[in-house]
Amino acid sequence: MSLTDAPHPLRSVLIANRGEIACRVIRTARRLGLRTIAVYSDADARARHVREADEAIRLGPAAAGESYLAIDKVIAAAQHSGADAIHPGYGFLSENAEFVAACDAAGLVFIGPPASAIAAMGDKAAAKARMAQAGVPLVPGYHGEAQDDALLREEAGKIGYPVLLKASAGGGGKGMRVVDSEREFQAALDGCRRESRAAFGDERMLIEKYLTQPRHVEVQVFCDSLGAGVYLFERDCSVQRRHQKVLEEAPAPHLPEALRREMGEAAVRAAQEIGYVGAGTVEFLLDASQEQDGAFYFMEMNTRLQVEHPVTEMITGEDLVEWQLRVAAGLPLPKSQSELTLTGHAIEARLYAEDPDNDFLPATGTLERFGIDLTAGGLAADRVRLDSGVEAGDDVSMHYDPMLAKLIVHGEDRGQALAEMDRALAALDVSGVTTNRRFLQRLVTHPDFIATELNTRFIEHHHDALFAAPHAIDADIARAALVAIDQLAMDRLARNHTNGAPRTDDPWQHRDGWRLNAPRRLRLAFQEIDGSGTYEVIATQGLTQGLAQEPAQATWQLQVQRDGEETSRLAGQCQRLNNDTLALTLDGHRQRLFARLDPASEGDAIVLTAAGTESRLIWRRADRADHLPQEAEAKLTAPMHGTVVTLLVEPGQAVEKGTPLVVVEAMKMEHTLNAPADGAVEAFHVAVGDAVAQGDELLAFVGKEASADTGREN
Ligand code: ADP
Repeated sequence: MSLTDAPHPLRSVLIANRGEIACRVIRTARRLGLRTIAVYSDADARARHVREADEAIRLGPAAAGESYLAIDKVIAAAQHSGADAIHPGYGFLSENAEFVAACDAAGLVFIGPPASAIAAMGDKAAAKARMAQAGVPLVPGYHGEAQDDALLREEAGKIGYPVLLKASAGGGGKGMRVVDSEREFQAALDGCRRESRAAFGDERMLIEKYLTQPRHVEVQVFCDSLGAGVYLFERDCSVQRRHQKVLEEAPAPHLPEALRREMGEAAVRAAQEIGYVGAGTVEFLLDASQEQDGAFYFMEMNTRLQVEHPVTEMITGEDLVEWQLRVAAGLPLPKSQSELTLTGHAIEARLYAEDPDNDFLPATGTLERFGIDLTAGGLAADRVRLDSGVEAGDDVSMHYDPMLAKLIVHGEDRGQALAEMDRALAALDVSGVTTNRRFLQRLVTHPDFIATELNTRFIEHHHDALFAAPHAIDADIARAALVAIDQLAMDRLARNHTNGAPRTDDPWQHRDGWRLNAPRRLRLAFQEIDGSGTYEVIATQGLTQGLAQEPAQATWQLQVQRDGEETSRLAGQCQRLNNDTLALTLDGHRQRLFARLDPASEGDAIVLTAAGTESRLIWRRADRADHLPQEAEAKLTAPMHGTVVTLLVEPGQAVEKGTPLVVVEAMKMEHTLNAPADGAVEAFHVAVGDAVAQGDELLAFVGKEASADTGREN
């Protein structure tokens, strides 16, 4: 039966979403002959989903609350366009029971479960209580109503650390933190509540025992409105970062057939328990240490289509959006359990606009190129799928989730799928915006991942192999920077000597602008000898040194930038052994080198010689006198574009190194800036709610010894 002759006839659908999922839903809806209507915010006026839909309706300003999350505006758009149904995609309003009720009231078909089923699962705590009743196994924990701090701390103690704090209303890894000890509990609780309030408008928490090596295995279920329910096998989404999925594959490797059935049936039972209709995912933690015993625990049910649904489509050959549309139209499920089969192996990688080598900071900009070259990669079109919401020329803004696209491949077996994924990632042609592509390649080619070592802490455990080693030239630049810093210190010393010979053994007598134990920042410019590359090093002095140490010997954080983009970050130290011999240590690698400074046309040439190799760089000393900043305060700058959410201390209040000072939010994730040392914030330059740009100075910080230093000089 066609969609137009169904009990709830469908001729048109409004997609209340953006990005790749809006484009993906449009594709199937169009194939089935539906008129497609997109919605957009001002930031997306020219976005791909708007271009691809038959019609598009403006919702409002860029802020999601005033556009994609504004229920009344979305309903009005559907009515205005005469849409029969609304597909919510994932995120935004997809799991909002109030929105489903509003659709019902407006006579619009909501493509998803009834409001009651969303409500039953929407709240993690309530869902756990319900699943316990239905006999689905749960992770030990607390999911009660009472929420006062002392009680939660006590419950955490009873469960035993480490515990996981989770926002009851949570999703997408937000409002969730691992707490290793009671000492960290309060700060984690406050942070989770804040994140949860901002993201979900709710701050209730639940606590679970934190399993240290679990696998994340989830079951795709589907139920129709006639009472039938099936499972379309499972996905393993164990490779995660901060509880967010990075790679997803189907089927779950090495899952015994009996356990597959047991988990599938438990998932269908969970769905039917709450009167579920449509596509849903029941997430389980599989205790890797007890895999043979098949210990699996219900975590939550996502009452929507998941980001990673394409891997299921690839192994089953089904189109899940088509299933969704048919079920929403009141038609029966296209297949029964026994008609569903599993073929080969599929894997999905999420391509994000972010920089893995810089703490995954979200990246923005204009995509110069975006696509995949299948022929060059020797890839078969029917085995590779790129689901994206962007095209070359598009802007990647800070307003929404930084996921650009999903790359999905299918192979006869896991080994073939992984090899295919590696080639597909290499064939991605993306420029203009930093992405995690290289990081994904390192993941799928990691021998332990290939050998199916799967658990949710894989990235953490293989940190060194997965994050980039600094580029060779960057190490040279960093070494040159250390030589330059040493030279600046010597210049100062020489000047001070002629101003009235201080006692060089007393660091307090050096009136040379160096203040011990207060961080300083220097900006040093270098050029390759043939003029091809220009580099800048932002050198920040570490704060951990003892008082009597020579300033130049301090540990420096060296941020190497090429053409304004950070290419690596190294920790370095320099020790002058004699006139021209230095011992340079970079990220723990100590080398003895000969350094010479020669005047050159654009600056000074730094010539470094070690073990028969020589490197030469031009140090552009634009302003010799002013290279050393006069003030000793550390400046803490915004790590990315975002909004200031909280100032956590008062100016002048004494804080310990590592104390959280200010929280900046971008792309719905919080980033906390911590005190670089014992000391105090001298002043905040921003207020809560301020929008800040990357590099903006947020506050002035004075180290403890620096204030002591001041006291002594006065
Ligand atoms: P969200 O809804 O925000 O995605 P989930 O409850 O689904 O949060 O959990 C996300 C991920 O966090 C899981 O895939 C798993 O890796 C990890 N996780 C959740 N609960 C636990 C737990 N009790 N122990 C260990 N890891 C957990």
